[in-house]
Amino acid sequence: MFNTNNIVQTKNINTKLSFGEIYNEGVSFAGNRIKLAGVVDDSIVDGDGVRFTVFTQGCPHKCPDCHNPQTHDTNGGYWDTIENLFVRIASNPLLDGVTFSGGEPFLQADVLAVLAKQIHSLGLNIITYTGYRFEELYKNASSNNHYMDLINESDFLIDGRFDRNKKSYKFNFVGSSNQRIIDCKKSQFPQLCLRDIYA
Ligand code: SF4
Repeated sequence: MFNTNNIVQTKNINTKLSFGEIYNEGVSFAGNRIKLAGVVDDSIVDGDGVRFTVFTQGCPHKCPDCHNPQTHDTNGGYWDTIENLFVRIASNPLLDGVTFSGGEPFLQADVLAVLAKQIHSLGLNIITYTGYRFEELYKNASSNNHYMDLINESDFLIDGRFDRNKKSYKFNFVGSSNQRIIDCKKSQFPQLCLRDIYA
């Protein structure tokens, strides 16, 4: 994942909008707590356009030379709510989309899928990073881990562990050449629609 040195933590957000003003009726945010390493309000390095990036806390992959080792410990970071994140995202008219990064977002696939559904209602797209390969997620998906819920709410999945032996700066939005940008909407497993990472 990308360097998080410029992360700004967002506890106790003040916003002019109340949650009720922008909340879509009938959709529950029950079980809405999310463990974060931080967020970036206006990233231009985590996907196309201006993006709100959510860095989740906790990662089991332990890739050598990971840029964000502080995100690995599931006991680290801080708790926030997806309501807070949604209000902050909805309050920024300049955003093109939202990126879920980490850490490993699929450790919290349930709450991220709910948040992503609400973000889509704003007309914004979703990019989700994961250290898992898509095939691993698909094979191990269950109603308990909600992997497919998050895949189905992601427009693009950028998958695979960071491999320092394949590290390259010539690829947009990936850290090593083994990682793939998967168009979730166009993919029909096992045929995956891959975006040209040189684009
Ligand atoms: S998947 Fe690898 S590169 Fe990404 S946060 Fe986890 S250990 Fe770091």
